[in-house]
Amino acid sequence: MSKNLTKRSEDYSKWYNELVVKADLAENSAVRGCMVIKPYGYAIWEKMQAELDRMFKETGHQNAYFPLFIPKSFFSKEASHVDGFAKECAVVTHYRLRTAADGKTIEVDPDAKLEEELIVRPTSETIIWNTYKGWIQSYRDLPLLINQWANVVRWEMRTRLFLRTAEFLWQEGHTAHATQAEAITEAEQMMNVYAEFAENFMAIPVIKGIKTENERFAGAVETYCIEALMQDGKALQAGTSHFLGQNFAKAFDVKFANKEGKQDYVWATSWGVSTRLMGALVMTHSDDNGLVLPPNLAPIQVVIVPIYKGDEQFEAISVEAKQLMARLRKLGISVKYDDRDTHKPGFKFNEYELKGVPVRVAIGPNDLANGTFEVARRDTLTKETVISADIVSYIQDLLEEIQVSLFNKALDFRNSHITEVNTFEEFKDVLENKTGFISAHWDGTTATEEKIKELTKATIRCIALDRAEEAGTCVFTGAPSQGRVLFAKAY
Ligand code: AMP
Repeated sequence: MSKNLTKRSEDYSKWYNELVVKADLAENSAVRGCMVIKPYGYAIWEKMQAELDRMFKETGHQNAYFPLFIPKSFFSKEASHVDGFAKECAVVTHYRLRTAADGKTIEVDPDAKLEEELIVRPTSETIIWNTYKGWIQSYRDLPLLINQWANVVRWEMRTRLFLRTAEFLWQEGHTAHATQAEAITEAEQMMNVYAEFAENFMAIPVIKGIKTENERFAGAVETYCIEALMQDGKALQAGTSHFLGQNFAKAFDVKFANKEGKQDYVWATSWGVSTRLMGALVMTHSDDNGLVLPPNLAPIQVVIVPIYKGDEQFEAISVEAKQLMARLRKLGISVKYDDRDTHKPGFKFNEYELKGVPVRVAIGPNDLANGTFEVARRDTLTKETVISADIVSYIQDLLEEIQVSLFNKALDFRNSHITEVNTFEEFKDVLENKTGFISAHWDGTTATEEKIKELTKATIRCIALDRAEEAGTCVFTGAPSQGRVLFAKAY
């Protein structure tokens, strides 16, 4: 199999698009902005889902499911929410088709107009808070900790496979609380869950922070986020967690009787990560040879390829391979023995490299004679010969090492791409030559933020939670600043 991938240094964007298709993760569909996620890509997404789902349940959440459609009137109840999403809503107006006058084509039946138009959910706060009204009466009903796995639709104009699609898969948590403090703690907790997942499971280092007012979720009081840096120096918002105050409770009249018997509005959070994480995964670790997967997310962690001439050698190698496979599987390692006789070993090596299988084991006649295996790791493309007695523990350790090493490599890259600047000249210079995060003073106004965006395309990714207290002057206006914020061009 020839890979023929464009090199990252030539055209990063082209490399990404080719890789997603060639590694069999996803492809464009007949529907504008919507993708088909292929089985290999979906298997990785399922691994992400399983781990996130486990983490949500461990923190007390339960899954539920709400309708795909939201009555239009619900949307207008929370003013800033509708403002934020109005421009990208798909709307259902009719419920029936009919055969046109030509007797051939199909058209919308004008007699089947919906009395109230329905919005295909871009996010579910409104339908969920309308439902919570019936579920919450007293402090005893709180907290309500619900998550939904679903698809949503946002009519994005510029789309990219996984990173930004018109329909995407995600989870959305929607929680209800008796106090402001408890809701804020929840929003922070879920940001931390996302950060832990990104770092420990996906091997993607992230910066935890809050969004500026301008970048905040429509309807939120505070948006917490995790921001990652891709290999081309562009940032990616990898997950968000919102403290919604009492905005949705007020819009949908959700009150509860507190311990003193007094009525109060309920406090809310919502939080989500999407199939965009698949894009983050590709853009953080992969190389010019194809996908590089952290072992925790690899559908196949180890592949065994036989190298043989004739049936007799094949039989003998297969015995070894199957024994190894059984021993690894006992340890919970996912293994594939690729004994297809329709493809040459070189073709298979290429294919597994392209698909990012972390460890490849080859067994040839010499290995058979010497009692050894050839073990290759995908991330460094290095090979070792390992004796039979050590092979299982060697592979087990190697998988752990690859997971850690991928994280450290991405962390080094990220850390070496955070540049402090003190003038706007330096700011523009970093954007042009070095890229990455720019740590700069900002005067705190939306006007300045917008102006910088207009001039440079860089946006404020977040105000990092761990930023140092440091008074200074805004890199653009010279007005006083409370501390540095992180700018970057972003996906
Ligand atoms: P939001 O509801 O806007 O806070 O977004 C929730 C999550 O979905 C965030 O992690 C976003 O990065 C992600 N997201 C937003 N829009 C898209 C899109 N068009 N395609 C894929 N993921 C998205």
